[in-house]
Amino acid sequence: MKQFSSIPETAEYLRNERNQGLTIGFVPTMGALHEGHLDLIRRSKRENDLTVCSIFVNPIQFNNKEDLAKYPRSLARDSILLEESGCDLVFAPEAEEMYPDQEPASLNLSFGMLDKVMEGKFRPGHFNGVAIVVKKLFDIVQPTCAYFGKKDYQQLAIIRYMVNTLGLPVKLIPCETIRDADGLAMSSRNARLTVKERSLAPEIYAVLLQVKKAAGNMNVNELKEWAINKLQEHTGFRVEYFEIGDKDSLMPLADWDNKNKAVAFIAVFLGDVRLIDNVELFL
Ligand code: AMP
Repeated sequence: MKQFSSIPETAEYLRNERNQGLTIGFVPTMGALHEGHLDLIRRSKRENDLTVCSIFVNPIQFNNKEDLAKYPRSLARDSILLEESGCDLVFAPEAEEMYPDQEPASLNLSFGMLDKVMEGKFRPGHFNGVAIVVKKLFDIVQPTCAYFGKKDYQQLAIIRYMVNTLGLPVKLIPCETIRDADGLAMSSRNARLTVKERSLAPEIYAVLLQVKKAAGNMNVNELKEWAINKLQEHTGFRVEYFEIGDKDSLMPLADWDNKNKAVAFIAVFLGDVRLIDNVELFL
């Protein structure tokens, strides 16, 4: 497995591979890898000649400095996991390599309503930072296919919008959320949970599954209220939002008229760790 930190070196290596007709699958990550990431790597490997993973904790997508400072970093361990999963190239740049002169802060992209709700509402500037880094990474890697987890459902919608509006020549592949045996969606942030918090955390998915069962039978607003109360019955949980939205526009649904497109989304603090999850209700 190759490991590069320089943009020109990575771009040139991949240009040569592409010129030989090889297809490139790309998995952008922020590292602290877990089975969720490795599932994307393995899928890319099955579907492409070469698999590239980037590891970059993107400072401009963090609206909270403390979250950025506490974000787990484990490049040496990540490299071993990637090598074992059959990844061909890791691109792990420093921030100065990606953002000389802090130039990207001035770039403001428009995503219609997609970045106004849920994560966009509670993490101002987050998706602008995500889109900037993903566009930059796409330019460097020029992948045939790029793999993103539905765990970050809104992120996927934003990137799909960017790819469509800019006409980027990459095929986006949405991948199912990988969970621990007890249902907790895998996340690099789970490592920051205390033992007590970790034992409570599966309740998030349990509530989402109950919502899926009750959807259609209960009024949307009542169901939302029920879900929030159910989680907050447990001390330690603070729900930031619980929303039922359209899978494409992400706009909140007021009734079940488009129930085949309904997705339940949640962001919740457990102690000071912020976790997100979602479940497609009718698909
Ligand atoms: P991150 O390193 O958290 O930025 O995630 C990198 C990629 O892995 C994103 O496309 C995420 O949606 C995806 N991902 C993270 N956690 C999971 C998971 N539990 N299951 C599937 N994909 C995931």
